Amino acid sequence: MREATQLNHAPKVRTTLLPSGRSMPVLGQGTWRMGEDHARRKAEVAALRLGLDLGMNHIDTAEMYAEGGAEEVVAEAIAEQRADVFVVTKVYPHNATRHGAVEACERSLRRLQTDYIDLYLLHWRADVPLSQTFEAFQSLKESGKIREYGVSNFDVADLEESFGIFGGDEIANNQVLYNLGHRGIEWDLIRWCRARRIPITAYSPIGHNADEQKQILGNRAVKAVALRHGVTAVQIVLAWLMRQPDVVVIPKAVRPEHIRENRAAHDLKLTEREFKELDQAFPPPTRKIPLETS
Ligand code: NAP
Repeated sequence: MREATQLNHAPKVRTTLLPSGRSMPVLGQGTWRMGEDHARRKAEVAALRLGLDLGMNHIDTAEMYAEGGAEEVVAEAIAEQRADVFVVTKVYPHNATRHGAVEACERSLRRLQTDYIDLYLLHWRADVPLSQTFEAFQSLKESGKIREYGVSNFDVADLEESFGIFGGDEIANNQVLYNLGHRGIEWDLIRWCRARRIPITAYSPIGHNADEQKQILGNRAVKAVALRHGVTAVQIVLAWLMRQPDVVVIPKAVRPEHIRENRAAHDLKLTEREFKELDQAFPPPTRKIPLETS
């Protein structure tokens, strides 16, 4: 019997509002690198289910991850509780044409074994004109295959341009690299989105590679704050991101102890003094820094 039976009533994480008035859970689960190895599949499905049972009812995936393999892992994890999960997936830029995006979305729906996607994102911007992508997203929305759409890795100039294109002003979310070591978006992007009630989703919240993770988690201030709360450094960096009501965080974890820690970070409150300590260790930007990507 899986743990779910004891955890079914775990409170769900809080939500943030999208411009349409729909809500989006602020703590989700990433899936990059899942679905790559069949031998790990059982553990990955169990990990996502544990997160759902603990109330992290949002899963982030993409057609790119394991070329659809991650979406298949997600399908298995959500099979018995689709309606309770906020599912995000992303279209490859080279598929994001007027017809290509519709076909890519239909393939994602088949792999996810669902008939709708809660939020469909353009993974990053490439050569396809944005007008084509938004036209496809509009038609997917009209047919009920997606409920909301958005973008990923868009800086302010990309968003400004999008808002001048038919359908571009319905962007509901922008998913970007954001963690203690990458605070550039605090200069302008967060404010731009906030003014339009568009939540930011922070990807690679713990660090976008092993070196950055080591630098953040090994930092003296992070460790001191963690010690004071009796929690881990990862929990501090996640709580720091979730200090903002309109920032969504999607850590990827397979190890059960990691998933439990990440869920507990949602309920952790840091003090103003601690935010200042973290600001000293990882200063906020003092000028425009072009959006970085992983
Ligand atoms: P991440 O979530 O910051 O880090 C994942 C790594 O951290 C894994 O090795 C995981 O280990 C470990 N970890 C998780 N929780 C931990 C904990 N409590 N203590 C210690 N280690 C912990 O990095 P990410 O996977 O790059 O980003 C998260 C998600 O964002 C992705 O999975 C993906 O869905 C999305 N993403 C989007 C883009 C984009 O362009 N839109 C780019 C990158 C990522 P275990 O797995 O072993 O538990």
